[in-house]
Amino acid sequence: MDQLIADWRAALAPGGVLTGAEAAERPRGPWTRLGEPLAILRPVSTQEVSTILKLASAAGAAVTPWGGCTGLVDGCLADGTLALSLERMAAIEGIDATAGTMTVQAGCILQTACEAAEAAGLFLPLDLGARGSATIGGNIATNAGGNRVLRYGMTRDMVLGIEAVLADGTVISAMRPLMKNNTGYDLKQLFIGSEGTLGVVTRVILRLRPAPVSQDTAFVGVDSFDGVARLLRRLERRLGGAMSAFEVMWADFHDLVTSAPARGRAPLEGRHPYYVLIESLGGDEAADAARFEAALTEALEDGDIADAAIARSGAERAAMWALRDDVGQTSRNGPIIAFDVSLPIAAMEAYVDQVCTAFTGRWPGLGRPWVFGHLGDGNLHILARVPAGAGLAERHALEEMVYGPLQAIGGSISAEHGIGLAKRDWLPLARSPEEIALMARLKHALDPTGVLNPGKIIAPPPR
Ligand code: ZN
Repeated sequence: MDQLIADWRAALAPGGVLTGAEAAERPRGPWTRLGEPLAILRPVSTQEVSTILKLASAAGAAVTPWGGCTGLVDGCLADGTLALSLERMAAIEGIDATAGTMTVQAGCILQTACEAAEAAGLFLPLDLGARGSATIGGNIATNAGGNRVLRYGMTRDMVLGIEAVLADGTVISAMRPLMKNNTGYDLKQLFIGSEGTLGVVTRVILRLRPAPVSQDTAFVGVDSFDGVARLLRRLERRLGGAMSAFEVMWADFHDLVTSAPARGRAPLEGRHPYYVLIESLGGDEAADAARFEAALTEALEDGDIADAAIARSGAERAAMWALRDDVGQTSRNGPIIAFDVSLPIAAMEAYVDQVCTAFTGRWPGLGRPWVFGHLGDGNLHILARVPAGAGLAERHALEEMVYGPLQAIGGSISAEHGIGLAKRDWLPLARSPEEIALMARLKHALDPTGVLNPGKIIAPPPR
């Protein structure tokens, strides 16, 4: 290993290899376990990434790619491996306003990319809580979802071209800004959502959208889950595809983020079992606002919603979104475990009841798990407090409660966070043996020595 590190020091630009205290001092987020990498490699170009991987593959040295390390499934856990951080490849190389594209390096922070698009009068719709530290490369590696999937899709839907480096150092440059390109296998899809196991994304061409002219936001209370489901379909129809967010909070989560020490305050007076944050983006301020209000008024009159507040200023809108984003409140009295599942909307109410009943039955003192999510995408986040002194057995029991029922109702153990290491053992609940075997064949074909983020998504073959 010492020889390998010396080789990298010689090959990379100054500051390209961090070891010892320099590596140990790296900041780590509250949600993320990074482990203790042998060294942190910080390339400044695709060519350097290629050099790193060529040497690593030849030596059989495992490499864990790092973006912003804001994932929640231990995908960045680099214990005993070399961490490959894209932090020095963060440039926005260009924005083509006519084509509506942005060419960007993988280490660029998501929020920086969004602001650059906005400055050019365009819009990068990807939006998630970790926007200030997540990177574009990490978003692609994990196929990040977030708050606007309902209208704009997952990260996958925003990627036109990709440049990635394979485990053996081969550079695959597919940097084409084309919307349509049916020329055989769409190779970029191999890397999107593969969590750094098939290649390291270095540069990308993103599809941008026109900047929205109008932004209408409302916070509504709903008295039944059927009402929530009806409201979703009504607004999809009534707003003609302009709805960009339909975020539901179960009452316990709403109460948590609207009571001290949380700084948020309830936008509505009464208490309801469900709250929905609704947002619509459009191109005509006056007409869109009128249509938005009319749709909500109809829903009120028909009894689908019980009460509603429409944001009348940017500050009111920000306050509504701050409630949804204040997920940190869930850990104010102790550690929590966060789950990210998807399932048919028709099955949600019974599923949530089943999970919460099982949880409070086993650990009565901990309260019900908090539930919220991107309901328009069929995606729920469930955050449960961890029993004091809980070990692996308790954790497994909790996972069984959350994941166990999903197979029978056709759900998924990960809607948007990925598999990483944290969910690997549960993958057979969501994918068939044949699918998992094909994943293993792809992994072996692209990374025969198993050096890229080994053990993530699927277990490595026995050596
Ligand atoms: Zn989410």
